[in-house]
Amino acid sequence: MCGIIGVYGGDNDAARLVYTGLWSLQHRGQESSGIASADGRGLRVVKGEGLVAHVYDEEHLALLDGNIAIGHNRYSTSGGSTVAHIQPVTDEDRDLAIVHNGNLPQTLKLESFLDKKQVDYAGRNDSELIFLAIKYYLANGMDLAEAIKKVWRLLTGAFCLAAMTKDRLVAVRDRYGIRPLCLGKFNGQWIVASETCALDTLGAKILGEVQPGEMVVMSRNGLQRQQVMAGKEKVDIFEWVYFARPDSRLQGGLVNEARKNMGRKLAGERKIKGDVVIPVPDSAIPAALGYAEVSGIPFDHGLIKNRYIHRTFIRPAQKLREKDIRMKLNPLAEVVAGKRVIVVDDSIVRGTTSKKLVDMLRQIGAKEVHLVISSPPVKYPDFYGIDTPMQTELIAAGRSNEQIRQWIGADSLQYLSYRGLIEAIGVPEDKLCTACLTGDYPIDIGANKTKIKWQK
Ligand code: AMP
Repeated sequence: MCGIIGVYGGDNDAARLVYTGLWSLQHRGQESSGIASADGRGLRVVKGEGLVAHVYDEEHLALLDGNIAIGHNRYSTSGGSTVAHIQPVTDEDRDLAIVHNGNLPQTLKLESFLDKKQVDYAGRNDSELIFLAIKYYLANGMDLAEAIKKVWRLLTGAFCLAAMTKDRLVAVRDRYGIRPLCLGKFNGQWIVASETCALDTLGAKILGEVQPGEMVVMSRNGLQRQQVMAGKEKVDIFEWVYFARPDSRLQGGLVNEARKNMGRKLAGERKIKGDVVIPVPDSAIPAALGYAEVSGIPFDHGLIKNRYIHRTFIRPAQKLREKDIRMKLNPLAEVVAGKRVIVVDDSIVRGTTSKKLVDMLRQIGAKEVHLVISSPPVKYPDFYGIDTPMQTELIAAGRSNEQIRQWIGADSLQYLSYRGLIEAIGVPEDKLCTACLTGDYPIDIGANKTKIKWQK
């Protein structure tokens, strides 16, 4: 997933704005964080593992001076969480830095280009391959915008990029716009950021989205926008369901409102007799509110989340993952005991969370547990920048709802219908990437096709 931000202009505080923006984009990645800045001479970089709060101190921010800066919060996708993957990507020359949100499911064109140009890329990840290709063109005398345009035709996949040299900042969004990227202005400084919530926090004016296929160039000549490729908008539907912050705006709509609509639709699609509606915090709160509103069943907080347990803490091993849920969520007997409880969550991926939750609620005395999910079954893996597991680990791939219900142990299980989800979001279906639900991958996933073992 990842969160990115770039700032151009002002006197000397670009990195401070980037730093503040990264706090607002923390939900998009907690593995590591990094900032690069420039003041017209060389680039400076600070990066490290963990949360924004852990990576930077005042000394770092003082070091990161200059009027151009980019920043990144990393969410571990393919490649795991090793120090080598922390962005911004730079090298010892300190003349280029890039941040990347997304994933390139196939890099054949990029690799054969680098082969041809005799650039050594052994062991590099997709973001580093992009970096090396841009660097190649810069070394051949192109400016950053020209270099990125050249490299663009080598990229197959989902990418929002912000790249900087000592005197300019360029941001691009792939022609499908799978990941969000927006543009804002604050005190004469231009800002690009993954989500509008970062612009709000900075007090910036939101100028709209960087369009799919668009390049934005910020330099001494001001800001120039250029449509490099014809856009074919397909925002990942999971940005709406889970990833984006509820106070962000995507495709002209407010995420919070869309999530409430998902809950309203769920309540309209099927009636369940219940005494209380509880969300799985935090992501399902808006949907649970919408559900309560339409069903007339009271909303309450039956699960209290420890806000300080983060994904960094969650180890990949399944055994630990199960224990983590108990550390993250504590059920309230006063709210659920003796009641027919309707639990609203945004999605089921492996099913581990749901199974554990149902068990926890029963142990604490819930009379019935009805699980209501504000998205349809996730049946296909993602290759565009989300850490979804192999298809064999997706509980809904190849299983009926009844089989899933039995495995989870709920009294009933209801998913939001596909139509209901599209209507709740209020964006035309063809402007959304629905691959994880439908298996329709808008961008070539290359050799990953062999990983899809099960088709509807
Ligand atoms: P699981 O236990 O694998 O079924 O995970 C489902 C839970 O994880 C739900 O409560 C979602 O809110 C949350 N979730 C969904 N997608 C993701 C993701 N890509 N990364 C982290 N959490 C997720």
